[in-house]
Amino acid sequence: MKLTNPKSHCLSPGEIESTLEKAGVQPTAQRIAICRYVLCQAEHPTAEDVKNWADKNFPKMSLATVYNTLNLLVKAGLLKEVRFPHSEKAIYDNNLSIHHHFLDEGSGEIFDLNPEEVKVESKLKGKFEVKQVEVLFRGRLRA
Ligand SMILES: [Zn+2]
Repeated sequence: MKLTNPKSHCLSPGEIESTLEKAGVQPTAQRIAICRYVLCQAEHPTAEDVKNWADKNFPKMSLATVYNTLNLLVKAGLLKEVRFPHSEKAIYDNNLSIHHHFLDEGSGEIFDLNPEEVKVESKLKGKFEVKQVEVLFRGRLRA
């Protein structure tokens, strides 16, 4: 997990507030801060990563609050919950466009790959109607 600059899928605190209200959830400062972190800063965090971040900023935030807030963002269509074969833990992806991933087996870090950099050709026919292709590449970062 690493931090990057704000991105296009980053919502303003006001937009987050109205999203939470629409979902029937009290938009507390803590919840808004988690949403901002997950949507604007974090890269493929697990719920534990988000909890660790929350602990540094908001003592006493429960893991349940973290999970509830993440699930809410998933339900609102602002966040994708993804599972990869290398880990039991779900990963939260704020990149909602179709893209592939590269797993650095050394660090466990996951990188987004632009679909234009990867060509996957399907020769499936018959009963398989392919709607979307998402590929996980595994390996190491070159030094
Ligand atoms: Zn991703």
